[in-house]
Amino acid sequence: MTSEPRVRAAISELPAYKAGKKVSGAGDLAPFKLSSNENPYPPLPSVHEAIVEAAAEIHRYPDPFSTRLVAALAQRFDVSPQQIGVGTGSVGVCQQLVQSTADAGDEVIFAWRSFEAYPIIAKIAGAVSVQVPLRADGGHDLDAMLAAITDRTRLIFVCTPNNPTGTIVTQVEMDQFLAKVPAHILVVVDEAYVEFNRDDSAVDGMKCFREHNNVGVLRTFSKAYGLAALRVGFFIGPENVAHAVRMTAVPFGVSSIAEAAAVASLAAEEELFARVNELVERRDWFTGKLDDLGIRYLPSQANFVWVPLGEKTQRFAELCELQAVSVRPFFGEGVRISIGEQEPLERILALLKALDS
Ligand SMILES: *Cc1c(COP(=O)(O)O)cnc(C)c1O
Repeated sequence: MTSEPRVRAAISELPAYKAGKKVSGAGDLAPFKLSSNENPYPPLPSVHEAIVEAAAEIHRYPDPFSTRLVAALAQRFDVSPQQIGVGTGSVGVCQQLVQSTADAGDEVIFAWRSFEAYPIIAKIAGAVSVQVPLRADGGHDLDAMLAAITDRTRLIFVCTPNNPTGTIVTQVEMDQFLAKVPAHILVVVDEAYVEFNRDDSAVDGMKCFREHNNVGVLRTFSKAYGLAALRVGFFIGPENVAHAVRMTAVPFGVSSIAEAAAVASLAAEEELFARVNELVERRDWFTGKLDDLGIRYLPSQANFVWVPLGEKTQRFAELCELQAVSVRPFFGEGVRISIGEQEPLERILALLKALDS
């Protein structure tokens, strides 16, 4: 007889979440974190100011409907407030989407590898993850994803640019795909990194949303907008789904500070996107260096680069740690390197060069 309260088997089977590791300095080397695709820039003064202003009111509950943020998003994306649902990070919104669409035993399809939160969220909801392997070139195998649809399929995530590969789905591929997905199945285009895309052939999630009744877009303030710690993301999609996303939200889940910072960030897009441009230039500089070194990587339209190091992955991650840089290793497969500050990227290039020789 055990005396422990019973926890659902699905929960005890969950893998522990591997957050991007923080390293400490080594010798006189300053530490850098390139493991979670964060924005290396600190908050803009205008955003900081909005946060301080909101902080004066934290003895009050936030607006449960995030009215100001929803209105600002509606204007920014030219949609109605009824087509928007916000949440505690887009991870929170992912969870709301699964809870909104899948009953126990229903199926959620996504590529693999893709965002690590998808299988965890599905499992917690009692849904079944259907993981469709990426193509050899790292792209989504949309034909195989179509073939994986059953009468239990309720939701399909298409992450583009994909985390952790940085690869995109093209608009042409997506159009062909959406033409064949049954209309009762929700397709969510996870565009967490879309602001870093410079490939004109890539999917435009909002265009898909406007052309199909079963498509929605997932966005976040955590990456390009640099608000990772404040936890705010949003969904734009069919009204009934957006309504369900609002119904499944944790009450008061978006704090007043997060809402104020997100609204201020939308007003400061010009400055923020100039920073995004700098990161894109740095990404292209970094992959140019990889080309020079003859190191294989996947073409990335995100703020990170996937380097398939196979069995060398673990050793490389350890070497990075000695150089006070944390990256995100997927052991036996490869490493995802965030495009953050320039200095740690230089250290990484030196390590990759040494690793190969
Ligand atoms: C980082 C990321 C998110 C955003 O997560 P937040 O909860 O908004 O911080 C969503 N989707 C993908 C694929 C990501 O990599």
